[in-house]
Amino acid sequence: MNETLDITVTKTEQTRLTVTDFSQLPFGKVFSDHMFIAEYENGEWTNLQVLPYGPILMSPAISALHYGQAIFEGMKAYRLADGKVSVFRAEKNFERFNKSATRMAMPSIPEDIFMQGIAALIEIDNKWVPNQDGYSLYIRPVMFATDPYLGVKASDKYTFALLTTPTGPYYSKALKVKIETEYTRADEGGVGYAKTAGNYARSLYPFAEAQKEGFDQLIWTDAVSHEFIEEAGTANLIFVIDGKLVTPSVRSTVLDGVTRDTIIKLAKKAGIEVEERRVSVKEVIEGIENGRLTDAFAAGTAATVTPIGEIGYQGQVYKLTDPSTRTVSAGIAKTLNDIRYGLAPDEFGWNWIV
Ligand SMILES: *Cc1c(COP(=O)(O)O)cnc(C)c1O
Repeated sequence: MNETLDITVTKTEQTRLTVTDFSQLPFGKVFSDHMFIAEYENGEWTNLQVLPYGPILMSPAISALHYGQAIFEGMKAYRLADGKVSVFRAEKNFERFNKSATRMAMPSIPEDIFMQGIAALIEIDNKWVPNQDGYSLYIRPVMFATDPYLGVKASDKYTFALLTTPTGPYYSKALKVKIETEYTRADEGGVGYAKTAGNYARSLYPFAEAQKEGFDQLIWTDAVSHEFIEEAGTANLIFVIDGKLVTPSVRSTVLDGVTRDTIIKLAKKAGIEVEERRVSVKEVIEGIENGRLTDAFAAGTAATVTPIGEIGYQGQVYKLTDPSTRTVSAGIAKTLNDIRYGLAPDEFGWNWIV
């Protein structure tokens, strides 16, 4: 970060801190007092402001609503043991945000605006960063097209916003997941690697169908053959097979998760062999049956590590090892959490103290 940007700050007249129950925090429903907004017009980002969180006035013709130019990110700020606040690997989220922007024909956001916006928000809403174990402040950057114009073309105007929401410990009971072989999340040449709104919209119906069948989540397979495993819902998937960490390689249909990358780095450092490659459904089912697959979990910012307990495939349900016996994922999850809360040395330089 170089020069300090000119950010207009308007403080709320009435904080909601006093009426917020930090022991009851359903994910993403309680927002902090302030938000950050920047507007893109005539090829420039302008009108940088921190202002009270609340509705913004918009035309119903804005192109984000009609043609889906909308992207987002998700990362977390943690209250460290010494009281300071750290944002975990924000740099990675910044880079991925602009990758998503490029794919959706949207302008990049300058690093200064992204980072200084976060810093300004955390400064003003510092008290919204919880201090209990397992809690954090979830940061949601979003950008959407605001041209009030119905022609199908890339918008000329955009709004960038940063919202923050305090979150409690994620309840991670072992999931019962279904290997999906009818609907798909992403295809080669598509937008699967971008965090863009439509990817989540298209997943909702298949997800609801799977829930009706008694599953908690889906495992997406490749769109061509349905023989290869790609992701779990909105998280990456990691297996332990023959003692090695095995995960689908990042490609145009597999999102490059920060948690996935972090876990790979920690595993390698712990001397665990890691294989990033295509992972077939057959290998996973056989691995469960012959006992070579000893661990399976979803990895993402929201829950960090969520164990998979059962996998449904073609009408049959396969039970995995008892999650309480899974030392590999439990060990990595603990190390990761200790780093995020400043309880273990941050050897990789992942914590950005704001
Ligand atoms: C956000 C997301 C992930 C997880 O990425 P993190 O950076 O670890 O939070 C994985 N897959 C999809 C489809 C996602 O949207």
